[in-house]
Amino acid sequence: MFEIELFTKKEFEIIDITPKINEIIKKSNINEGIVIIFTKHTTTALIINENESRLLKDIEELFKKIIPKGKGYAHDSIDNNAHSHLRSILMNPSLVIPIENGKLALGTWQSVLFIELDGPRRRKILIKLCKC
Ligand code: ZN
Repeated sequence: MFEIELFTKKEFEIIDITPKINEIIKKSNINEGIVIIFTKHTTTALIINENESRLLKDIEELFKKIIPKGKGYAHDSIDNNAHSHLRSILMNPSLVIPIENGKLALGTWQSVLFIELDGPRRRKILIKLCKC
């Protein structure tokens, strides 16, 4: 098991973790298999998509539009971040990606994107590699 630690800087932030995962795969010497990527938090998510700055802005605007902040959510009476939890349940806490030729078998425009929904915070992502 490997771990990636991130220190996010903004409330909503998208971080491309593809190079970090490929580095871990390289160190493991696994040529073919699968990688499981798992975020251990209730206000983050993982997606696979294109790392293009305007698209990343569109993703942020989409979530702000469909789940606005401070709409009288019940959980806001505890820690004021219901919108962050609600945005996260529309995505996934984990991804499974094939490994081919010692790296992620992603399509040309695909990147592994970590989404911070309640930053800035210290975050941990677990990486499990399986040879198969
Ligand atoms: Zn909360």
